[in-house]
Amino acid sequence: MTRTVYVNGAFVPENEAKVSIFDRGFLFADGVYEVTSVLDGKLIDFDGHAKRLERSLSELDMPQPMPTDELLSVHRELLARNDLSEGMIYLQVTRGSDGDRDFVFPDPDTTKPSVVLFTQAKPIAQSAAAETGIRVISIEDIRWGRRDIKTVQLLYPSMGKMLAKKAGADDAWMIEDGFVTEGTSNNAYIVKDGKIITRHLGNEILHGITRAAVLRFAREAQMTVEERSFSLDEAMNADEAFITSASTFVMPVVEIDGRTVGNGAPGPVAKRLREIYLEESRNSAI
Ligand code: PMP
Repeated sequence: MTRTVYVNGAFVPENEAKVSIFDRGFLFADGVYEVTSVLDGKLIDFDGHAKRLERSLSELDMPQPMPTDELLSVHRELLARNDLSEGMIYLQVTRGSDGDRDFVFPDPDTTKPSVVLFTQAKPIAQSAAAETGIRVISIEDIRWGRRDIKTVQLLYPSMGKMLAKKAGADDAWMIEDGFVTEGTSNNAYIVKDGKIITRHLGNEILHGITRAAVLRFAREAQMTVEERSFSLDEAMNADEAFITSASTFVMPVVEIDGRTVGNGAPGPVAKRLREIYLEESRNSAI
């Protein structure tokens, strides 16, 4: 099926969508993105994603391409036109193109941002991986220092996934100064003696929208949450481990660098949080 995508104000068939070769997203990775999950034809945590987009843009001195209510309308129109009931909507905003290549930012009054959205149909609530858990390897975190901005510079995370694949694993956790920062495209957690431990917010990690929701639900369910750095060693000796992201929700991790975490099966905390997250998200989807 040919998707209908959104590009700079128009809904067009995917093979007719065009962006300039001078677009700064293409030449400089000068752009930001969001991925919003869709369940039952509705958007999960749209407000969270819209707010983070606003922040990413403002951190990079990029103008907001449209007001949030308009952005919501575009998301909904795209869902309707593609008859999407489950999967994701990918949104990318770049600094646009002034028709040449120059390191200096173009004048935002004359160069408008490029805005692209497309749907990805995929079963995400029912997941075989969530039943068995995933295996991760550790790799050095050599990304830039502003990982809190959700930029499209995803080469290293992409290389990390390839290293994991070559090692027969599913994903990679990144390590800086001995401490786990996050997964290639997700936030990382361990559970020890009933406590949920995940790295504190800062410039070193992306402030996951799923992370915020999961920690809120965990606290509401009287679980103890510690937002602090944890080492690779601590992770290997944890009772449980898991990751969160918009497309995987809560996903148990059962092996790190070939060492079994806990008893090697998804743990009760991760399972419970996945259930709560899915239920609450379906209820509050818009
Ligand atoms: N960290 C990184 C590096 C990511 O790329 C992502 C997902 N894009 C996340 C964390 C999770 O963020 P979210 O829960 O908002 O999907």
